[in-house]
Amino acid sequence: MRYKITRLCKKHVSYGNPMTNKTFAASSLAAQAMGWIDPVTKAVVPPIHMASTYQRDEDNGYSSGRIYARSDNPTFDQAEATLAALEGGAKALVFSSGMSAATACFLALAPGDHVVAPKVMYWSLRNWLAGFAQHWGLLVDFVDADRTDAIAAAVKPGSTKLVWIETPANPTWCVTDIAAAADIAHRAGALLGVDSTVGTPVLTRPIELGADIVMHSATKYLNGHSDIIAGALVGAHDDEHWQKLRTIRAQIGTILGQTEAWLLLRGMRTLFPRVAWACRSAQTLAERLSSHPMVAEVLYPGLPSFAGHAAAKKQMTGGFGGMLSVRVKGGERAAIASAARVELWKRATSLGGVESLIEHRASVEGPGTPCPPDLLRLSVGVEETSDLFDDLDQALRRGHNA
Ligand code: PLP
Repeated sequence: MRYKITRLCKKHVSYGNPMTNKTFAASSLAAQAMGWIDPVTKAVVPPIHMASTYQRDEDNGYSSGRIYARSDNPTFDQAEATLAALEGGAKALVFSSGMSAATACFLALAPGDHVVAPKVMYWSLRNWLAGFAQHWGLLVDFVDADRTDAIAAAVKPGSTKLVWIETPANPTWCVTDIAAAADIAHRAGALLGVDSTVGTPVLTRPIELGADIVMHSATKYLNGHSDIIAGALVGAHDDEHWQKLRTIRAQIGTILGQTEAWLLLRGMRTLFPRVAWACRSAQTLAERLSSHPMVAEVLYPGLPSFAGHAAAKKQMTGGFGGMLSVRVKGGERAAIASAARVELWKRATSLGGVESLIEHRASVEGPGTPCPPDLLRLSVGVEETSDLFDDLDQALRRGHNA
């Protein structure tokens, strides 16, 4: 996909020279956050708008289009426009967290609506959905979403309103065929929502594959520096449903703070090189760890032996992501002992930052988790790959002997 700067213009900001017909790659666009130049000062970086309210016109109107900052804030504009462009969507909305972005999609549904969601997905969202569904009267079927026949068997034409998938999915990285899921959802009269946090717009563009809503925990790769909590939705269409999501954000007030929006935009400028580096490194680590004597199995969509590899190859371009998991020989005890012995990797939850993180995921998810107890989740950052491997190697060996 090549982008024309003119396509991206919004009335209150200017994006480079709109007179030329030149097109640019997505990575060029991201690096310059759409080429925005402040029309007054010519600053290449936008200001942070702190105002919580806006002056009404003498004729009682709001010609600026702004009323109160619980609806939106000019600091969001560039981040939302950049993300919408990178995802090939009509519009984007930034939220106070990935959870508030995701939950807005379910809050937009009505009691009695049916939802299909994955068994393997971001655990907190799955927990919230199971509890919320009970109180709100949503009917939810959790399925093995890496099997499109399971999604097809679960949808109920007419009453299924949303099919939700996450791909690659936490923490086993199983892959859902997005185009097939979109087809199934649409035939049933439902929308397809995709948690593409790990896919990132660098590797996967769900809207081109038929998705209606793309969701990101922008806390992760989009920001990339582990210094904000943020979420985002991208809509394929600026339609009634999209306006409902916008209204939910404004009414509940799950907006992003101004400073966080600014940091998010700054992070997105380096999204492409960060993700490319992480993918290269994760692929190398997955291959090397596959023959490690203390590793029982490596879960990574980039490995030809991985169950979801073919689906991943079909819909991911430029790499298979920066996330992988290893199942440690010796079980839970050896896994936890290995995580305790890393020196470079950081033992912390979350993912998608420049620093590599390791986590014994089952401990975080708790009872009922489908996560195997011997699994260590690895978020690969931008450190030197050989340093990352050497550190894991010594930790796995010492952990096994502990
Ligand atoms: N989706 C995925 C795949 C995640 O990993 C997370 C957080 O870890 C979320 C959603 C929730 O995002 P946040 O923590 O920004 O609310």
